[in-house]
Amino acid sequence: LYNMLQELRGNIRVFCRIRPMFHEEAKCTIDYIGSDGSLMVIDPAKPQNARKIFQFNKVFGPTATQDEVYRDTQDLIRSVMDGYNACIFAYGQTGSGKTHTMCGPSNRSNEDMGINYMALNDLFQISSIREDVKYQIRVQMVEVYNEQVRDLLILGSLTGLLILKYKSTLEIRSCSSNGGLSLPDASMHLVQSTADVLDLMKLGEKNRAFSSTAMNERSSRSHSMLTVHVHGDDISDSATRSCLHLVDLAGSERVDKSETTGDGLKEAQHVNKSLSCLGDVITALAQKNPHIPYRNSKLTQLLQNSLGGNAKILMFAHVSPEADSYGETISTLKFAQRASTV
Ligand code: ADP
Ligand code: MG
Repeated sequence: LYNMLQELRGNIRVFCRIRPMFHEEAKCTIDYIGSDGSLMVIDPAKPQNARKIFQFNKVFGPTATQDEVYRDTQDLIRSVMDGYNACIFAYGQTGSGKTHTMCGPSNRSNEDMGINYMALNDLFQISSIREDVKYQIRVQMVEVYNEQVRDLLILGSLTGLLILKYKSTLEIRSCSSNGGLSLPDASMHLVQSTADVLDLMKLGEKNRAFSSTAMNERSSRSHSMLTVHVHGDDISDSATRSCLHLVDLAGSERVDKSETTGDGLKEAQHVNKSLSCLGDVITALAQKNPHIPYRNSKLTQLLQNSLGGNAKILMFAHVSPEADSYGETISTLKFAQRASTV
């Protein structure tokens, strides 16, 4: 049933989310939010005539709560329990609310939890209700930084060991030869409660923060991905395997003009390339092209088994409403519009 509801809406959906203004007195670029998923943006430099209209499956305004956002995500999450693969992406410039949507507020209060937590909570609940199927839920968490994949859930008490393990990059394998696993070498953790999930999310964040002491603001230059593997054993002896990828993408902002050399440039090039590859793959899927260019980036290779086929894709395009973000806002909305089938 969950899947039937989803089927009616197609396999790719694009939602837009606008975060609240940080300063109420600042100028805002959002002119109008329609309940039909339309959005009107004004160019702050020419307010008289420069309005652009975009159309998505849904637009969440600045007052939308985490619960409201999750409610529209739930049927996709639930179809994973029926054996469907799914991907959720948070796209947008740094500071636009990607991590807020996926993880929750930056002050990490246990209220207002994001999609990652809510999704797992939901999966646990379904698994406890369904007596006909025995579910096993396991998670992996990795980051993709400069086209290298690293495990974020390495446990280790000795810092030296942790550094060594963290530094080793993971190889992406062909899924068909690995029972659907594209990262067989990333650590895999069985989870049975939301407490388990919170512990792992904290560990992932710690490992990620640990790496960013060397390179500032690394988190905005890397993609982080929580993958949930669901294994269901039916009493009638059939088994389903599926996975859900929850991806907090690197910031989509264009490279700062001052950073045209060195590490900053390299990072920016990798980010730009992988985001545009992701856009190309989703656009090719939306247009039902026979050739899908998965091989052009690590991110799309990683997700290959969950992009395409029967897989469900949901992209959140995040937007900062302030006037000085206008340029990035338009480029985010254009990117998202291109990936959308509405
Ligand atoms: P990103 O991950 O895209 O860089 P964040 O999620 O870190 O952005 O958001 C930037 C700041 O804005 C954070 O302090 C976050 O808590 C806040 N924020 C983002 N979206 C919302 C929202 N919908 N409601 C309230 N605060 C938000
Ligand atoms: Mg973030």
